[in-house]
Amino acid sequence: MPEDALDASPSRVPVGIDPNRPSIARVYDGFLGGKNHYAVDREVMERILTVVPEAADIAQGNRRFLNRACRFLATQTDISQYLDCGSGLPTAENTHQIVHRTNPEAHIVYVDNDPVVLAHGRALLEDDELVMMAKADIFSPTTVLGHELVERYLDLSAPIVLLQVGTMHHLEGERAPELMREYIDALAPGSYVVLSHFYDPEVPELTKVAKRIEDILVHGPMGAGRFRTREEIEAMVPGLEIVKPNATGEPRLVPCYQWWPDGPQLKAPSLASQCIGGIVARKP
Ligand code: SAM
Repeated sequence: MPEDALDASPSRVPVGIDPNRPSIARVYDGFLGGKNHYAVDREVMERILTVVPEAADIAQGNRRFLNRACRFLATQTDISQYLDCGSGLPTAENTHQIVHRTNPEAHIVYVDNDPVVLAHGRALLEDDELVMMAKADIFSPTTVLGHELVERYLDLSAPIVLLQVGTMHHLEGERAPELMREYIDALAPGSYVVLSHFYDPEVPELTKVAKRIEDILVHGPMGAGRFRTREEIEAMVPGLEIVKPNATGEPRLVPCYQWWPDGPQLKAPSLASQCIGGIVARKP
């Protein structure tokens, strides 16, 4: 076991955590360079890295997109409420830290169902009165929207930011557009949605990368991880106005690394980094 990883010996594993089943949150944390993973998670990572050595670029591109989108929304809108679905393990720059730098009064509700995420999140946020960690199934919009912490800390009759970043591709089957519509229907006009999703750019060499990773995720112990086309992902924000993704681009999905990058891109993007797409969109 690497020195900094989680200890899977029975006496060290917290109640409710199965160290023999890989978890989305822990595998993602591993790709981000975190230390919250067990051997079973690293096996999934290694299988993916064998077929796509630059696969970590997907997780990193996704996380940087989340950070830039939060910074944009905190500085360019007056919205003070964020619902971050499938928030994942706390890393260096979490939604609340970014938003609070600009808007220290903003309310943030994180939602996840992974016991490691919930434990870390609650420990980090213990004394925080503005940031809450809710346990719920993000693929059940009514459960999330009716959660007592959502009801108590967010006012859905006013605009909010809804984040579904790196989540909807983990839903098995074809219900993603329908679930997103349910969320969007519940939002007040002026709300924003931040969505990122595994992306198949429909270019043969990139589709090959997407399919290699999808095969491991869908047919392995994780059981889900679908790469979708632009048309399929854009269908998840029906009726919304997509924000222009950069100075020259049309308002549409782009690979996450192209969404208002922090500066000129001196390095050529890897193939993997082109296989995660992002959208920020406003409800009119
Ligand atoms: N949003 C974060 C980001 O982009 O950095 C984390 C993304 S991580 C890939 C996906 C997260 O969704 C994990 O923390 C996982 O536990 C959570 N998740 C997956 N399915 C879920 C479900 N049905 N209900 C709640 N959370 C879920």
